[in-house]
Amino acid sequence: MVSVLLVEDDPSISQPLQAGLEREGFSVELATTGAAALESKKHDLVLLDLGLPDLDGRVVCQSLRAASSVPIIVVTARQDEIDRVMLLELGADDYVVKPFGFRELVARIRAVLRRTTAQPAESEPVEWGPLRIDPRIRHVEFNGEPVELTPKEYDLLAALAADPGAAVTREQLINNVWDENWWGSTKTLDVHIASLRKKTDSSLIQTIRGVGFRLAPSTSES
Ligand code: CA
Repeated sequence: MVSVLLVEDDPSISQPLQAGLEREGFSVELATTGAAALESKKHDLVLLDLGLPDLDGRVVCQSLRAASSVPIIVVTARQDEIDRVMLLELGADDYVVKPFGFRELVARIRAVLRRTTAQPAESEPVEWGPLRIDPRIRHVEFNGEPVELTPKEYDLLAALAADPGAAVTREQLINNVWDENWWGSTKTLDVHIASLRKKTDSSLIQTIRGVGFRLAPSTSES
């Protein structure tokens, strides 16, 4: 599970943001001051509000960067007049301007994580809620029970699990699982998705209308 340090002093922003990120499958630790952010344990990503009550957010950003290579997304108010050059100098990986859309923020988080974290080795098992995939032997378990998949069904599930919970477009799936010169009907994709749902659980793979599919968030509240 990806752990996020959320540094934000305004509860009207941090509370819905924390709840939303947890629904997306992130674990979230909240720090309401710059000092608390600097003392916190190691995380996979930091969301850093620049307007903090105790320390200058820019100093917090530089200090975090000096201490580790953790990806940092800066959250700024419009009046902060921040620019990309300054952010790079501070060591931030990206930024969003308040008020921002939750979907946009999640997309930024996933993009930064993709850029900054190495992909897990091909042989490493993937665990996501009730789903377990062992790529080394192309073995899939769901709720502890082995699932018999065709090679294409397996490839499709593995493509969705490469970045669990993230949206994968129909085009990406077709390119990954079939090939770029594949001229068959896109119905084939839907047939394979339906079959995967039947063999696991109808809620395992979510349809994102007009886009593609993703693995459902693995948190129990979803
Ligand atoms: Ca603030």
